[in-house]
Amino acid sequence: MTRPSSLRPDLIDAALASVRKLGTPLWLYEANLIRERAGQLAMFDCVRYAQKANSNTHVLRLLRSLGVFVDAVSLGEIERALVAGYDPHSPAHEIVFTADIIDEATLQRVVELGIPVNCGSPDMLRQIGQKAKGHPVWLRINPGFGHGHSRKTNTGGPSSKHGIWHEEFEDSLRLVDEYGLTLIGLHMHIGSGVDYAHLHKVCDAMLDAVRRADRPLQAISAGGGLSLPYKAGEPEIDIAEYHAAWDRTRREAEAITGGPVRLELEPGRYLVGNAGILIAEVRAVKKVADKHFVLIDAGFSDLARPAMYGSHHDIAFVTAAGEPVAGPETPIAVAGPLCESGDVFTQQEGGFVEFREMPLPKTGDFAILRDAGAYGATMSSNYNSRPLAPEVMLDGGALTVIRKRQSIAQLLALEEGAGPL
Ligand SMILES: *Cc1c(COP(=O)(O)O)cnc(C)c1O
Repeated sequence: MTRPSSLRPDLIDAALASVRKLGTPLWLYEANLIRERAGQLAMFDCVRYAQKANSNTHVLRLLRSLGVFVDAVSLGEIERALVAGYDPHSPAHEIVFTADIIDEATLQRVVELGIPVNCGSPDMLRQIGQKAKGHPVWLRINPGFGHGHSRKTNTGGPSSKHGIWHEEFEDSLRLVDEYGLTLIGLHMHIGSGVDYAHLHKVCDAMLDAVRRADRPLQAISAGGGLSLPYKAGEPEIDIAEYHAAWDRTRREAEAITGGPVRLELEPGRYLVGNAGILIAEVRAVKKVADKHFVLIDAGFSDLARPAMYGSHHDIAFVTAAGEPVAGPETPIAVAGPLCESGDVFTQQEGGFVEFREMPLPKTGDFAILRDAGAYGATMSSNYNSRPLAPEVMLDGGALTVIRKRQSIAQLLALEEGAGPL
C-alpha cells in the first residue's frame, strides 16, 4: 500500500455526507485501510493492537474480527476490550495489560480476569505477587538506549520512565521467583519509528535478556513503533525485513531456551494512523503581514499531535460541493479556535509555526486533516469546554456513526449535584 497524495473523491463525499448529518469537527475512519494494514502483519504469530492509538470499541471489534489481539494500558482500556468481545480467559491471552504502575482497582480487575500484566517496574511485580501468587506476567525491559521520532515519544534510554531498567532485570527475575509469578515473556518497546541499524541493536538486546533470564519463555514481543508515511512520497516500512530480523531473533531465543517462543508485535498507529481523517469547517481567513491564517473549528483539544509533538498532518481544503480548493498557492498556517497561541496545526517541534504553500480557501470550505486515525480522538480533551467530536466509520460505501458527539450537558453533568465530601 502506498499513501495516495490526493484524497479519493469517494472519501471526500463520505466526509461531506457525514458533516451534513453531524456537523464539524468530525472523525472519519476507513475500515478497508485498517483491514489492509492488519493483513500486512499476518506473518507475525500474534499482533497485539496497542489500543491507546484508537480505542473506539467499534475499531476494536473490527480488529478482533481480523484475529488481532489487544493491549490495554488502563482499567478503562481493559473494559473497552471486554465490551468489544475480547475473551480474557482464552489460553492465548487475548488481552494484556501493559504499564509502569498498577493502581488497586486495576490490580483487582486483572487478578479477577487472569489478564497477564506486562510490568514496567519492580514495584508492580511486588504488588501483583502480594495479591496473586502465580499470576502471569511479562517483563518490559528498558535496555538502556532508545529511539523515537520526538523526545516525547522516545521510550528507552536513561531519560525514559518506561520499562524495567536493564540493571534491575536480575532483581525483577528474583521477584518473579520469590512470588511464584508465571513469566510469559520479555517485551521491548523502544520508541516509535523504524531504522534498521537500530532494529538490530534492539534484537541483540532482546537476546541478551533471554540469555540472562535463563529459563523457558512462551513469547517475546517486539513492541510497537512501526512508522507510517505521513507525507506523500514518504516510504512505507519494509515489513518483510522487519519481520525477518525479529524472526531470526525468535529462532535464536528458541535455541537458547530450548522450547518454542511466540513472536508478538504490538503496533498502534501502524494499524489505524493512515485510516482516519479529521474534518473541520473553515470559519475565518485572516491576513497577517504577507501571509494568511486559516482558522478552522477544530483545535488541539481535538487533534493534539501537532501541538504536542510538532507532528505533520497533510491538510487538504475542499469546497462544500466537494471540489478541491483551487487557485494560486500562497503561504498558509492552519489554526484552531482555542484561546492558546499553540493551537496551530501547521507547526514544527518546538512550536515554530509553519506556513505551507496552498491555494487559499474561503469561509464555509472544509479542511481535511489527514492520517489522523491514531492518537487523534483518543488524545482529545474537553479543553475550553469543547465537547468531544463524533466518529464515523466508512465501510464498503456504508457510513456508521461509531461515537456520537458529546453534548455540553454531558460535559457539565459531573459537576451537578455538588455536595459535601
Ligand atoms: C504506545 C505503545 C505501543 C504502540 O506504539 P505505536 O508507535 O503507536 O506503534 C506499543 N506498545 C506499548 C507498550 C505502547 O505504550
